[in-house]
Amino acid sequence: MSRTTMVAGNWKMNKNYQEGRDLVKSIVERLQPTDTKVVLCTPFVHLNSVAASIKDISNLYLGAQNCHQEASGAYTGEISTAMIKSVGADYVIIGHSERRKYFGEDDALLAQKVKAALESGLKPIFCCGEELSVREAGTQNDLVAEQVKAALFDLSEEQFAEVVIAYEPVWAIGTGKTASPEQAQEMHKHIRSLIADQYGAERADLTTILYGGSVKPKNAKEIFGQPDVDGGLIGGASLKADDFVAIVDSTL
Ligand code: PEP
Repeated sequence: MSRTTMVAGNWKMNKNYQEGRDLVKSIVERLQPTDTKVVLCTPFVHLNSVAASIKDISNLYLGAQNCHQEASGAYTGEISTAMIKSVGADYVIIGHSERRKYFGEDDALLAQKVKAALESGLKPIFCCGEELSVREAGTQNDLVAEQVKAALFDLSEEQFAEVVIAYEPVWAIGTGKTASPEQAQEMHKHIRSLIADQYGAERADLTTILYGGSVKPKNAKEIFGQPDVDGGLIGGASLKADDFVAIVDSTL
């Protein structure tokens, strides 16, 4: 068995309903057959229509960008993992730095969300990554270790096998500043060694670890070429079909 390569697009809070339909149509038209798993993480309102548009296309999957930690109840405005699963999604992003920063999501809450996702049969794409001040202080490895351990290391081996990790240095998200291929490789290797300590070398070797932060068609190949980088989580460039598909093609 070898680990899965993946490119996931995070649309964030972009595209109205029709624009979302058009974007998916353009992506589907351009996508070549590939072994890379391609995941479209859309706003909730798009999930149903995107599910219908991609249902016959192998290697194209659907994901949400957030979920609630409780199974159901009086949580006005929130969306449960079972609801997300019921419209045909297989993935959910958990712990994106924008949710940590703007919505106060902390490690304890994220651990609950990861468990809720897994209980509903969704695979978490768990995001971790340091702010610029942490990178400047040189303590990024400790911070990322804390994030990963707190949210993921209470999981059983079976549960952990469903998790995808995305390393996203906060200073590189939406800024046009990418981590160098060496910085990405160093952190991915560190994360893989944490997994090896907790779940064994074989599981570490099989875990998909994505890089996210200003990945574009022009820099994707070099970053994805690093031995511990298994693809990317793509924000801005996932909103343009040509760019997104070019990034997917960088994994071929
Ligand atoms: C993201 O939001 O996960 C992301 C990586 O954004 P961008 O590619 O725009 O930096």
